Amino acid sequence: MQTNLADFIKDTPEGREADAILRTCVHCGFCLSTCPTYLLLGDELDSPRGRIYLVKQVLEGNPATEKTQLHLDRCLTCRACETTCPSGVKYGHLVDIGRAVVERQVGRKGFDSVQRTALRKMLPSPAFTPLLKLGQAFRGLVPAKFREAIPPAQAATPWPEARHGRKMLVLDGCVQPAMAPNINAALARVLDRLGISLVRPQGGGCCGAVSYHLHDQEGGLDYARRNIDAWWRYLQQGYEAVIVTASGCGASVKDYGHLLRNDAAYAEKAAKVSSLMRDPAEVLLAENQRLAALLVLENAPANLQKRRVAFHSPCTLQHALKISGPVEQILRLAGFELTPVPDAHLCCGSAGTYSMLQPELSKQLLRNKVTALESGGPEMVVTANIGCLVHIQSGTGIPVRHWVEALDRALEDPRVRTGEAAFIDEIA
Ligand code: SF4
Ligand code: SF4
Repeated sequence: MQTNLADFIKDTPEGREADAILRTCVHCGFCLSTCPTYLLLGDELDSPRGRIYLVKQVLEGNPATEKTQLHLDRCLTCRACETTCPSGVKYGHLVDIGRAVVERQVGRKGFDSVQRTALRKMLPSPAFTPLLKLGQAFRGLVPAKFREAIPPAQAATPWPEARHGRKMLVLDGCVQPAMAPNINAALARVLDRLGISLVRPQGGGCCGAVSYHLHDQEGGLDYARRNIDAWWRYLQQGYEAVIVTASGCGASVKDYGHLLRNDAAYAEKAAKVSSLMRDPAEVLLAENQRLAALLVLENAPANLQKRRVAFHSPCTLQHALKISGPVEQILRLAGFELTPVPDAHLCCGSAGTYSMLQPELSKQLLRNKVTALESGGPEMVVTANIGCLVHIQSGTGIPVRHWVEALDRALEDPRVRTGEAAFIDEIA
């Protein structure tokens, strides 16, 4: 694609990056077929190609309007278009640049502005946990729009002592410890059995994605710098990796190297941290021989009836981190039967704060996703991201958990795999 960027941006790092990305797009339109918003709305401007064109126009000096902002707001940043694109267009980075420029030109008004500011400030803050507890206690009084985002209270479960020579860090994140404290504890128990201690670092916190994607890119980068500072001394002591159990946060940490590449004080450390970020599936697959040994079904009956689970692969896992297959492989190794999930490449509608900011589109995507997940008759849905977990649970009566929790239970009690013992029963 030919470009002619305007003076205000063309000689900036963002302008140069956007220009290079725009030039890779050949307008073929292959990406339209996998874009959830285009499939729902049928409008070219709600497709990847249309949004690329909108960003190009703005960067070439045409003033952004509220309509430009609306079409960019409707994008889930699911990055399914990146997986489909034969030219390797880095849509996610381009739309980040475009959104920041549009935000500066158009701004936000009224309730939209208040809501975005409230989400940005509240989700990563220490006030989130007491607010969630309040919401759980008085669920009936919470406005319907926010009620669906409140999961039932979950009790914390035991975390093994850091007794092994091999150690890895884990990102706690902002909302997950309050919403689902069992997820990281379950991973700590699984890794402990494999001779690896999972350690929560002192300091750090939110990955920064909430701020970064709610129009405070500098604030998001500050969260990244804080995490890098907190993790650095552990990595220097030989900690092997930073594991992130929420794939949304994992995608964000994987991007630290790119986001801070122009920060002289942090560029090198950020690149190192990104290279050491691991999804649990990557770590467990690397240990699969020993995991398999732990998972051997002793005295398994010949007519073993496997438990049926449906796996929802979050967009951040399959499209951003490009991890497709390892979770399914581990779950099969653990003795579960995976039920078919049609259109597994499409977003569930959670997408960070999208479910609150674009509730209508989000609900349609949720309905489609739940229908697809339930179609194979699973007893449980498992996923890899806290946002998807809570969102999908709001649309189905089937229990939804992180896949690591199902694996942990299967290791703890092999009868789980044949239905003789409860999958997970720690919800208070
Ligand atoms: S983003 Fe990729 S798939 Fe979409 S129009 Fe451009 S080149 Fe084609
Ligand atoms: S990120 Fe997702 S919603 Fe946005 S344009 Fe790409 S496919 Fe469509």
